[in-house]
Amino acid sequence: MRASGLIAAAAQDVVKREIRPGVTTKYLSDVAEETIRSMGAIPNFKGMYGFPAAACISVNEEVIHGIPSDKKILREGDLISIDLGAVLDGYHSDTAMTFPVGEVSKEDALLIAVTRQSFFEGMKFATHGNRLSDVSHAIQAYAEANGFSVVREFTGHGIGTELHEDPSIPNYGNPGRGPRLVAGMTLAIEPMINAGTHRVRVLPDRWTVVTADGKRSAHYEHTVLITKEKPVLLTASKEDR
Ligand code: MG
Repeated sequence: MRASGLIAAAAQDVVKREIRPGVTTKYLSDVAEETIRSMGAIPNFKGMYGFPAAACISVNEEVIHGIPSDKKILREGDLISIDLGAVLDGYHSDTAMTFPVGEVSKEDALLIAVTRQSFFEGMKFATHGNRLSDVSHAIQAYAEANGFSVVREFTGHGIGTELHEDPSIPNYGNPGRGPRLVAGMTLAIEPMINAGTHRVRVLPDRWTVVTADGKRSAHYEHTVLITKEKPVLLTASKEDR
């Protein structure tokens, strides 16, 4: 899973360098796919439940599951979320990050930073012996303390020989509930944080999830190995390790 995760991390790094005004979301997904395949893995999102591309690319008020398109051209000031994964020798990885396109507003920069940090606040509790909702609660508490809201309808998940395994991992809730974390568990933990209301809806394309109020959203995800000490981020590139 680490080998798979490093390929997903490399794809994030390569795609990140290509984000600029004027490029299409289809181009970025193609870059992700080429990177994953060039490293001997397969993009595990492609074909999953019929999804047509290697990466979910969600812009601005899109929360998750945006479909890459050659008609969707990035503009200065957009927020772009890249969610992708790899399968290598039967083992899956899954990672998501939100990036600014050029210069973004102060509030948008804060949304990206708080979303990322909410994941790391959750990580403080992602240790053998804790309960799953200890992680969920820490994510919610941090995001809401910073004035943002937590998406309820979509969650993180177990991951391993399948992309989506039990348990589902909400990014909100009271602590001390859910399964106990055990060393060796591998989980995809992925806060989805909104600038306005936590409510979302699905567009008529039946994939793209957007905020109900049209305000912006950010996403941050790693595939995480639970241990008796600090969790290991299997999809982290150097800056997040
Ligand atoms: Mg995921």
